[in-house]
Amino acid sequence: MKNSKKLGINTICAHVGEVKDEQFKGAISPIFMSTSYAFDGVDTKRYPRYFNTPNQEMLCKKIAALEKTDNALIFGSGMAAISHTLFAFLQKGDHIILQQTLYGGTYNFVVEEFDKFGIEYSFTKSLSITDFEKEIKKNTKVIYIETPSNPLLTITDMKAVSKLAKKKGIVTMIDNTFASPVNQTPVDFGIDIIIHSATKYMGGHSDILAGAVAASEEHILRVWNVAKNLGGSLSDFTVWMLERSLKTMSLRVKRQNKNALKMAKYLAVNPDVYHVYYPGLKGHPDYKLAKKQMKNFGGMLSFEFVDGIDAMKFQNNLKLIKPSMSLAGVESTMLSPTHTSHALLSAEERAIQGIKDGLIRFSVGIEETKDLIADIEQAIEKAKN
Ligand SMILES: *Cc1c(COP(=O)(O)O)cnc(C)c1O
Repeated sequence: MKNSKKLGINTICAHVGEVKDEQFKGAISPIFMSTSYAFDGVDTKRYPRYFNTPNQEMLCKKIAALEKTDNALIFGSGMAAISHTLFAFLQKGDHIILQQTLYGGTYNFVVEEFDKFGIEYSFTKSLSITDFEKEIKKNTKVIYIETPSNPLLTITDMKAVSKLAKKKGIVTMIDNTFASPVNQTPVDFGIDIIIHSATKYMGGHSDILAGAVAASEEHILRVWNVAKNLGGSLSDFTVWMLERSLKTMSLRVKRQNKNALKMAKYLAVNPDVYHVYYPGLKGHPDYKLAKKQMKNFGGMLSFEFVDGIDAMKFQNNLKLIKPSMSLAGVESTMLSPTHTSHALLSAEERAIQGIKDGLIRFSVGIEETKDLIADIEQAIEKAKN
């Protein structure tokens, strides 16, 4: 499909990047599990670690169409996508600016690995554009952002960041996992490289570990050159599972958007709730910016109870909503960042990021919201001191 960038999102999800079953005319993509392909008379040397098996190549077309880029690459995890891409653009003596609030795994990767390779890094003091500008040095090669951020759903101004970077010849990267391509296409705002943990909304059923990078042909080639050496490719069975999952991504995410807004509004007026963090609420400090750069506000929110309600006891008493790690599945889940996703940070680092001990992160699924509300209300009653 030549003009796949112009197709509607559900059409892209359902059709772009199918592997045609020429032999039996089956309705779905066949899986090619071969690790060995004849090279006699063919011009492509196919090998799974070269990221070019038929299933890999075709799925990359779907992801590129979703992100409106030339091409994409898929990886064995979101962290593989992040690490391979960063190593493709950074070498000894280079400097990277990362935004202050980041996915915990990305933060750990940077602070635990970069010193070994002589790569310098700075974290911004806030998400304001002047704080990005302050960190620019002569050797700055990359600016890395994540919006909405985990777990407080703060919003970074993509257009302002890309404008600043372009002036200085700096490459921009975004972790677009929380928004998914359904709610946000960063190339529209000038961001160069888009990274996903496909484990989350792309997979959507809590049964796939995968990552993806989407960018121009030139940038993808640069990532590929490093990726073939580091070897973080995805198994073709998982590639096939991911293609299957992506067919319903837009339907799932749109329902999750709707549910999350309803739940945010419900929690915001609940007298037992002290604060709700959701960019779709008019009271959110970044509401206007979110509205400008997002098509919808996503399925993630966070909240805090008033004093006298024990957040852990509340989660232990939930019956329908699962207290668990990870996010973005069709089933609703909750977790306490202090004890899980951000447990490796010190209390001081958490305080700087504004993460309070009682904070609960809510990944809203596709269920009926009345059932979610009933579950929350019965668990609150049991968590009152
Ligand atoms: C989960 C996640 C990652 C890491 O992805 P994995 O698939 O677990 O390696 C990166 N960024 C964000 C925002 C995530 O939520």
